[in-house]
Amino acid sequence: MPRTPAALPPLAALEPARLDWCCDDTSESAPRSTQFDDVYFSRHDGRAETEHVFIQGNDLPRRLAAWDEARPFVIGETGFGTGLNMLCAWACFDTHAPPQARLHLVSTERFPLHRDDLSRALAAWPDLASRAERLVRQWPEPVAGVHRLWLDERVTLDLHFGDAAERLALLEGRVDAWFLDGFAPAKNPEMWRAELFEAMAAVSRPGATFATFTCAGVVKRGLAAAGFTWHKVPGYGRKREMLSGEIGSPPADERRAQTPWFTPPPARPPRRVAVIGAGIAGASTAAALARRGIEVTLIDRFDRAELGNVHLQGALYVKLAVETNLQSRAYLSGLLYTRRWLDQLDPDQALWRPSGVLQLAMNEKEQARQARFLANHPLPESVVRGLDAEAASAAAGIRIETPALDYPDAGWVKPLELCARLAATPGITLRLGEVAALQSGATGWTLALADGERIEADQVVVAAAGEAARFSQLSALPLQPVRGQVSQLALPEGAPALGRVVCAGGYVPPAADGVLNFGATFAPGDTDMTEREGDHAANLAELERGLPHFVAALREAGAELMPERLTARTGVRAASPDKSPYAGPVPDTQAWREAYAVLAKDASRVPDVPGEHHSGLWISAAHGSRGLASAPLCAELIASRMCDEPLPLEWPLVDHLHPGRRVIRDLIQGKSPALL
Ligand code: SAM
Repeated sequence: MPRTPAALPPLAALEPARLDWCCDDTSESAPRSTQFDDVYFSRHDGRAETEHVFIQGNDLPRRLAAWDEARPFVIGETGFGTGLNMLCAWACFDTHAPPQARLHLVSTERFPLHRDDLSRALAAWPDLASRAERLVRQWPEPVAGVHRLWLDERVTLDLHFGDAAERLALLEGRVDAWFLDGFAPAKNPEMWRAELFEAMAAVSRPGATFATFTCAGVVKRGLAAAGFTWHKVPGYGRKREMLSGEIGSPPADERRAQTPWFTPPPARPPRRVAVIGAGIAGASTAAALARRGIEVTLIDRFDRAELGNVHLQGALYVKLAVETNLQSRAYLSGLLYTRRWLDQLDPDQALWRPSGVLQLAMNEKEQARQARFLANHPLPESVVRGLDAEAASAAAGIRIETPALDYPDAGWVKPLELCARLAATPGITLRLGEVAALQSGATGWTLALADGERIEADQVVVAAAGEAARFSQLSALPLQPVRGQVSQLALPEGAPALGRVVCAGGYVPPAADGVLNFGATFAPGDTDMTEREGDHAANLAELERGLPHFVAALREAGAELMPERLTARTGVRAASPDKSPYAGPVPDTQAWREAYAVLAKDASRVPDVPGEHHSGLWISAAHGSRGLASAPLCAELIASRMCDEPLPLEWPLVDHLHPGRRVIRDLIQGKSPALL
C-alpha cells in the first residue's frame, strides 16, 4: 500500500511550551513542562544523561570520527525541547569528525519554547554557550513548517515545527541516527504512536540506529512493528535500562506512487558546478553550493559589483492566498528563511533592513480579503497581523487612510549589492560572459560561451530568469518575461521618511541614501529595457493613489515628483503560468511526454515509471517580483538535493516547485506543447 501523505497541517501559530522553573535536586531551577508534568532535563546531570543515552547510545563518537562521505551525517530527533541533545551532538561532531565532514540535524517540536525560555534553559551549560547563542539568535517564529538554521559552516539544523509523526511523514531526506526523545510515554502517549515509528522507518537510511531513554512496551512494540530491532542496554543513573537498536532495510518510499514523475533522481554530490546567472537566484545558489565545499563558476554578462551606487531597493515580501495553498506555504517558508539568512549574512544590515512591510487594503474587496486571510491564518503577530488605518499610519509614520496587513519582520534589500556580496563568497569564481549552449557528456557538462571559451562542470544550475528558455533542454518549460520599471528620485533635505515598505498596487520602501525608489510597472510579454516616461507617470500615479499624504508632504518638502525628473531601473523578471518558482531538476520533457502520454486519455492510469531528468541539470527561475522571498530557500533546496541532504521543505512543497509540474498538467489537459 502506498503511504498516503499526512495532509499539510494548518498554517497557524503553534501552541507554545508552558513551563515552570522548578527546583530539582540542586539549588538551581530547571525547566519543567506544566502541560506534560515532566522535566526537559535534570539540571544536575542532564548533560551526562544526554551523552549516555543519545550520543553513546548511537555510537556517535566512533561513527563521526570515521565519516568520510560527501553527504552530511544526519541525526533525526523527536522533541527538540531546549535543544540540549542537538547541541551535544554538535559538540561531539566538532570533537570527533574529520575537517571535511558535515553534520545535518533534523528535529521535530510541537510546542516550541519561547526564545527567552530557551536562552534561560541553555544557560545551565556554560561550555555550550557559544553554540546556544547561535541557536537562540536564529530561533524561528512558532509557525508550523520547516525552519532551516545555519549553526555554523559545517552544521545545519532543520527544525520541523509540528507533531513528530506528522512532520516526519512530510520529511524528504534520510536519517543515519535517531534520538527518540519526548516526554515519557505514560505522560505523552499521543506522540509515541505507531505512525511515529512508521514515519521514522520510512525516512531511515539502511542501518540507521536509534537510542531512547525509555523501555516502555508501547515503544518496543512500535519500533519492532516498523522494522527496527531493539536491545536493552544499561540506562543512565537510576534508570536501569534503556533501548538502542537499528533498522536493516527501511521500507521503500512509495510517496510518489501517484506522481512518479516527481521521483527524485539519484543524488550524485558534485565537485564542480557552473551556475548561469548571477542575480538573486543564481548568486544565492552559488553561495549555498560554495558553503558545501563545492567549486562554483558563476557566469553572467555583467558584474554587479561594478555597477556603482545604483540605490536600487527591492521589497522582501510575500502575498499569501486567502485559503492556504501550497504556493502560500512555500512563500511563507521562503520569507522566514530569507530573514534568518540575511541576519547571518549581513548582521550589520548594510544591505537590507527589517523595516516591516504594510500591504494596504485599497478597497472593500481587498479589506474583506485581508479579513478572511487573517481569520484563516492564526499566525503569530510577529509574522503577520491586521492593522486599522490609525495603527497602519503609526507604523508607516505617515497618514494612511486604509487598513492594512502588516508583516513586521519583512523589509527591503539592496539586491545588486547583495548579489555582488554573494558572488564574492570564497569558492566562487565569477566569469563574465554569455553562455551560448549547454552540452552533456559522459563526465558532465560543457558550457560553450559566446566568446569561444568552454567551461566544464559536473553539474549546471540555470538561474537566468526568462533567458533559461534559450537552452534547448529548457525550452519547453513555460516562462513568461515581465518587464518592470522602478522610478527613482533623489530626495531633498527634510523630506518625510517612511517607517515601513508600503505596498498597494506597487511598492515603496523607506528611502535609503537619500533616494526614493517606487514602482514597479508590470508588463507581461515585454522585454524592452529602455526607460519610459509613461512608466514613470504610472508609478507616480500609483504612489499617489496609495500614499496621497506622503506624496503631498514630499512635494511640500520640495521633492520634484514629475516624470521628467525621475530616473529609472528597468529589469525583466520571469514568471511561470502558476506564479510559483521553478526550483529543482530539469525534466527531460520529451521523455515525459512519451512516458506519460496515456494521461491525456485517462489521468487515473498513472504509469509506474519514474520521471527522467537531464542528469545534473537544475533550474531556479520564475521568481517573478518576489525573488527575495523565494530564491534563497530555492537555492538551499537545490543545493540540498544535489548533495543528498534532507530538504528544507516538506515533500509536497518540493513537488509543487518541481520544474516539470506544468508538463504533466498540460498533458492531462490535452494541451499541445506548442500552446505552452
Ligand atoms: N530533546 C530535548 C532537549 O534536548 O532539551 C528534551 C525533550 S523534552 C523531554 C520533550 C519535547 O518533546 C518537548 O519539547 C515537547 O514539547 C516535545 N513534544 C511532545 N509531544 C510532541 C509531539 N507529538 N511532537 C513533537 N514534539 C513533541
